[in-house]
Amino acid sequence: MRLFQIFLIFLISCISNIALAQDCTQTIESNDAMQFDLKEMRVSTECKSLTINLKHVGNLPAQFMGHNWVLSTTEDMMPLTGAAMQAGAPSYLPENDPRVIAATDMIGGGQETSVTFDLSALDPSGDYTYFCTFPGHYAIMKGKFIIE
Ligand code: ZN
Repeated sequence: MRLFQIFLIFLISCISNIALAQDCTQTIESNDAMQFDLKEMRVSTECKSLTINLKHVGNLPAQFMGHNWVLSTTEDMMPLTGAAMQAGAPSYLPENDPRVIAATDMIGGGQETSVTFDLSALDPSGDYTYFCTFPGHYAIMKGKFIIE
């Protein structure tokens, strides 16, 4: 019984150490001025899965100033923005498109959302970009996604 308790304490401390070792959750903000607050995002290869929290700190509704956070290879970004236009409102995202590595919902002012995805499936030396697929926003709302 005592041994089992010691084992349990050991196990719990291991788990909490792993959780402390790497923060695999990142938050990015967007606003009414069509901006993300980060020009690039750096994530660790130690993260097997990554959670992105997207906050819209503005007031405008999603149909006028909607934002999402979409990740693809830099090469796929332009064709994806075209596909997003075709997909139309309210998601502005093609369904089941393999070029989309991860994507949040489209949100409006005062809202927040998140997406969790498998980072270990990506190539750390790859060229990735995150962007917003609301029409026209990708010109400003984009950034480099770096795995290091
Ligand atoms: Zn946007």
